[in-house]
Amino acid sequence: MINMNKKLLELYEKVKECKKCQLWKTRTNVVFGSGSPDSKIILVGEAPGYWEDQKGKPFVGAAGKFLDELLTIAELKREQVYIANILKCRPPRNRSPRAEEIKACTPFLDEQIEIIKPKIICTLGNFATSYILEKFGFKPQPIGKIHGKVFQVSNLLFQLKIIPLYHPAAGLYRAYMKDTIRKGWEIVKKELSKVKSI
Ligand code: URA
Repeated sequence: MINMNKKLLELYEKVKECKKCQLWKTRTNVVFGSGSPDSKIILVGEAPGYWEDQKGKPFVGAAGKFLDELLTIAELKREQVYIANILKCRPPRNRSPRAEEIKACTPFLDEQIEIIKPKIICTLGNFATSYILEKFGFKPQPIGKIHGKVFQVSNLLFQLKIIPLYHPAAGLYRAYMKDTIRKGWEIVKKELSKVKSI
């Protein structure tokens, strides 16, 4: 694992040993997260798929290829963003995450967010969107209703924008959605330009 600060490394060591839900039994690798620990932007996906489980890195399969294209719309390179998932272990046959798995695993994501202190969180798909919106006190809504909308969190301690986006895999299953998905990333570009440096 490259490019981790001390706190992330300590957390990674914990995640590697995690047996809080049943998914440890079928995982090949945990998929902790990747990218810059100093990034102003975190992307939150759903859960590792086959290739992510094999390689221990997020978004290295087909959805990851499309994600790379989407990142270029926001003039971002992978190394500049931090990418994590709601679940750190692959659900068998890529089924949807279960409530008890989300409950067991998301404290790790919470810690990653706490360590990195992003200015922008982009949630990819319904699972990440519901979790992050609820965490910051917003009512979850289906991604189709809020794709590209900017939710502002502002308090004495920090300022954060949450941008719900379609999961890149949605464009693979439904090619006609690709342009809508791309448009969301233009919003990301605009919001990033307001954040001083990434
Ligand atoms: N889909 C996700 O949500 N996350 C990954 O890491 C890969 C595919």
